[in-house]
Amino acid sequence: MRVLITGAAGFLGSHLCDRYIAEGHTVVGMDNLITGNMDNLAHLFGHERFSFIKHDVSNYIHVSGELDAVLHFASPASPIDYLEHPIPTLKVGSLGTHNTLGLAKHKGARYLLASTSEVYGDPQVNPQPETYWGHVNPIGPRGVYDEAKRFAEAMTLAYQRFHGLETRIVRIFNTYGPRMRLNDGRVVPNFIHQALTGQPLTVYGDGSQTRSFQYYTDLIEGIYRLLVSDEKLPVNIGNPSEMSILDFAHAVIEVSGSNSEIVFVQPKDERVTDDPKVRRPDITKAREILGWEPKVKLADGLAQTVDYFRDRV
Ligand code: UDP
Repeated sequence: MRVLITGAAGFLGSHLCDRYIAEGHTVVGMDNLITGNMDNLAHLFGHERFSFIKHDVSNYIHVSGELDAVLHFASPASPIDYLEHPIPTLKVGSLGTHNTLGLAKHKGARYLLASTSEVYGDPQVNPQPETYWGHVNPIGPRGVYDEAKRFAEAMTLAYQRFHGLETRIVRIFNTYGPRMRLNDGRVVPNFIHQALTGQPLTVYGDGSQTRSFQYYTDLIEGIYRLLVSDEKLPVNIGNPSEMSILDFAHAVIEVSGSNSEIVFVQPKDERVTDDPKVRRPDITKAREILGWEPKVKLADGLAQTVDYFRDRV
């Protein structure tokens, strides 16, 4: 296959490039580098089956030659990033999705949209099955991401139903691992950075809010299976082992062998507005349809991630 991956220089996009190259496919990576980092792709430059185009997919996209698949992973993806880039976040989820769908239709390519657990907002149902419609504040600070991704899902289904395009949608839950940005503001890089530099780990609120963390290799495997599956409706891919943010802070301290303390902070800014109180994927569908489930334990994935960050702090 010849595959276009948007957001190729990001955390997930670059790992996807690696997977498709490793499977013998040809990869065209695309990124405008507002949050992506070329270091994540440096090892692929010079590879005969890899090429890169610096481009903002919110503008008309031209790719010469055939394409068999388009994987749309471009978007700021951390609360800090979309607070800093609210309009590009809305544009890449809406216009970028429209443009990549149009490209896939033109090329006769299969399409996969990177959606998110944020479509469920601050959920009133836990765990969240794909049938849950969500509880999103459209005008809060997270609305720029949540609503763009909800629009992206609607647009993708419209291309499937109206144009007969082969589309797939993955709803990605919290994922961590090497190549996350140290300063992206998310809890995993924040806590690891703090643990490795002896600073206190900043737990927002009382730390009772929950998340379910999956290691990136499990996610990439789920995406790889989903693209070749027949499932046309969204599929959750995440690790159902849910924990409080306070317990997660303890886990980071333990794995990194840090002496850091834990402090409770009450940010007054938008970082914690509409912060989901719980989040856990119901992965029944992925288990049944893809024969997929996460394999990597938190302690093992965290150890790999801490090693990666140790070289960079
Ligand atoms: N969080 C925290 N301390 C930090 C960064 C984040 O306690 O230094 C909390 C945040 O309030 C949220 C959870 O960790 O409840 C996960 O936040 P993240 O930004 O990683 O992503 P989200 O899952 O909210 O999109």
